Amino acid sequence: MNLLITGANRGLGLALANEACERGHHVLAGVRSPGSSAEGLLALASAFPEKVTIVPLDVTDEQSVRYAYEQVASRYDGIDGIINSAAILLGREQKLGELNLEQLEQSFQTNLFGPIAVLKHFLPLLVNGEKPTVINISSEAGSFAGAYGGDYSYAMSKSALNMFSAQIRNELAPQGVLVHALHPGWIRTDMGGDQAPGDAAISAKGILDIVERKKTADALFIDHTAAPMPL
Ligand code: NDP
Repeated sequence: MNLLITGANRGLGLALANEACERGHHVLAGVRSPGSSAEGLLALASAFPEKVTIVPLDVTDEQSVRYAYEQVASRYDGIDGIINSAAILLGREQKLGELNLEQLEQSFQTNLFGPIAVLKHFLPLLVNGEKPTVINISSEAGSFAGAYGGDYSYAMSKSALNMFSAQIRNELAPQGVLVHALHPGWIRTDMGGDQAPGDAAISAKGILDIVERKKTADALFIDHTAAPMPL
């Protein structure tokens, strides 16, 4: 499979890139700055030179997304999966009065507009893929059922991402594209912190099982074990 993974230089995105390579897939590794924060990805690319293509991709910059699409489309006729993992967690506002509207906007730009731009531009390649799948990495923080009155910017951006996922799931179903919004668990990454109970590598295995359709789920919003999550 050819899999596009955004934010593939660290955290869950890098764990996904590692797992996909181990399984023999070809990774189109989207990374906004292939510098020092991409050391792990560069090591992976040296270990699997035939399996990893590093694609410069800042999801908040539509020009960058368009250029990434052109680069990939010049080499591949189709891609079989897109995993939108890139995201930011800013502010951690626990009170409305703490809400910084610029950070709210940045959160939506990365966590919502980013996946929208990626899907919009890569769609012609995706619909040519074999059993194509879109996984929008969301969060339990975006669940209405679990709204805890905190992390305003992040939670609202993920909730809106779930809505976007529902929209494209309906639009793309006739073309055979499977779409899920997916909570990867609370995992140890820069975003999740050291105290998180989950391992990104375990979440990545579960997510790849879903992309490979070894595990299936009816629900739009699921976790990395394919269990349904409340919207
Ligand atoms: P990290 O903060 O560890 O990594 C975030 C990744 O996103 C980095 O690769 C970063 O790249 C990239 N990124 C941020 N902005 C952009 C951009 N504009 N363009 C391209 N890449 C960008 O986060 P995690 O790996 O923990 O999170 C992965 C996903 O899982 C996210 O969607 C997150 O919301 C979700 N999630 C994580 C949880 C957790 O416990 N960790 C819990 C629930 C959901 P760079 O190095 O350039 O900054």
